[in-house]
Amino acid sequence: MSDLRFTAKRAERTEIPRPKRGEGQWALGYTEPLNKNEQSKKDDSPLNVRDRILYTYSKRGFDSIDPADLRGRFRWMGLYTQRKPGIDGGKTAILGEEELDDRYFMLRVRSDGKLLSPATVRALGQIGVDFARDTADVTDRENIQYHWIRIEDVPSIWERLDAAGLHSLEACGDSPRPFLGSPVAGVAVDEIIDGSSALAEIERRYIGNPEFANFPRKFKTALTGHPSHDVAPEINDVAFVGTVHPEHGPGFDLWVGGGLSTNPMLAQKMGVWIPLEEVPDAWEAVASIFRDYGYRRLRSRARLKFLVADWGIEKFREVMENEYLDRALVSNPSPESPVGHRDHIGVHDQKDGKKYVGVAPTAGRVSGTLLVQLADLLEEYGVQGARLTPYQKIVLIGVEPAVVDALLDRLDAIGLSGRPSGWRRNTMACTGIEFCKLAIVDTKNRARDLVDELERRFPGLDAPITVNVNGCPNACARTQVADIGLKGQLVLDDDGRQVEGFQVHLGGATGLQANFGRKLRAHKVTSAGLDDYITAIVTNYLADRADGESFAT
Ligand code: SF4
Repeated sequence: MSDLRFTAKRAERTEIPRPKRGEGQWALGYTEPLNKNEQSKKDDSPLNVRDRILYTYSKRGFDSIDPADLRGRFRWMGLYTQRKPGIDGGKTAILGEEELDDRYFMLRVRSDGKLLSPATVRALGQIGVDFARDTADVTDRENIQYHWIRIEDVPSIWERLDAAGLHSLEACGDSPRPFLGSPVAGVAVDEIIDGSSALAEIERRYIGNPEFANFPRKFKTALTGHPSHDVAPEINDVAFVGTVHPEHGPGFDLWVGGGLSTNPMLAQKMGVWIPLEEVPDAWEAVASIFRDYGYRRLRSRARLKFLVADWGIEKFREVMENEYLDRALVSNPSPESPVGHRDHIGVHDQKDGKKYVGVAPTAGRVSGTLLVQLADLLEEYGVQGARLTPYQKIVLIGVEPAVVDALLDRLDAIGLSGRPSGWRRNTMACTGIEFCKLAIVDTKNRARDLVDELERRFPGLDAPITVNVNGCPNACARTQVADIGLKGQLVLDDDGRQVEGFQVHLGGATGLQANFGRKLRAHKVTSAGLDDYITAIVTNYLADRADGESFAT
């Protein structure tokens, strides 16, 4: 794609001065690549790698892959090389990517808030069984993530996904990453507005569209019309949140510039009302601002949140209206952020008299076999389908009230509880050292063992305490917005040896009490000591809490 369209001309319309030292903002005329990622995207559109995978690499094998594709453009197809087994976390920062690379891939399949039919759930499970050594994790971006994928198998996997109405296009890379949609869109009795059609339209217009395939970095979208704000809108680059205008009725507020990682920022609320049919245009305007004005010089400053923080929300709105929408947005107070759960666990009423049922795999760890078993149950009990959630959960949609109890028992038996303990419900974990090249510590297995142990130590805990386990500072499992956020790093044990451990952040939250957890410098814990550490702080909280006082307060 040519970047020359995005010249200083557009910027002149809002009199944005051209700084002496450019940040790589195309709209200000800085179109020359300023780092190797930008150069690679300019050399060849990352979308072109699809054909090379289908017709060259999958036929000739791993060693035929151009390194610029392998460690760059493959991401636009949802493919990353996974970490070579047996390399400890101490080597992560020392070794080059080549030394960490395995000859297998992680493949991320986006669901974009779609309702997955029983046949689709079966297809997803069978891919895990046939091609991914039975892996199939549920991620907190509503993806299914496979591991151990061979390049030779990618065309067959894509064929099966295509037949199931799914794909992995732009599931990674500097692109419009997988969308978070409300898992109960169109069915929940308390829904403000169903945004599914807008998400589908955004996907149809912009995913795989070369004009929107070269952002400064990743671009995360969330959309919900549910009052629980069940898509973590505070920490997405762009979020549409259901609201009601006193005259016009239901529509969406627009929030921009949220994100975690090493410089966490909460999204700023624009305080507007956007009707359902205009959401795709508004998405395009925000995405275009990011593409044209986003900082491209330093990768560490290349997320939309930095631009929003520098401009402020008023200027962002002005540029959006004047340069991209050519119309004014309707002002409307932003909706109140709610308190309480957003994960839809348990049994809830639908508009049509049926029920939806949220179930909790442990820390998102699922398998191909488990998805096939789930598909069996969906078919046996006549359930309409399932959606994935941003909390690594699965929501079954369209359950007949008469079969709920029997279905819950059967789900329990396969490890998908609709009545999980608070610990199983509220613990998330990122991919971690098992497969991630950036990881310093193990996460999934550690989280599973932690949940088992905390269930034993605190059976029937009456207060929800969220625990987010992350393998490095990148915060893919949202270190900063958990009651107990754990950031993987090497720490010293009692004998002064460097071992796997965590920096602790306490008291983070989203929703009404949206807040980043405090990083307590003294609170570093070895992985082996994690059970005892959490036991100690939960015991203190239980002893000291006043009536109704949550862990975060
Ligand atoms: Fe990998 Fe770090 Fe993200 Fe975990 S937080 S998945 S270790 S990059």
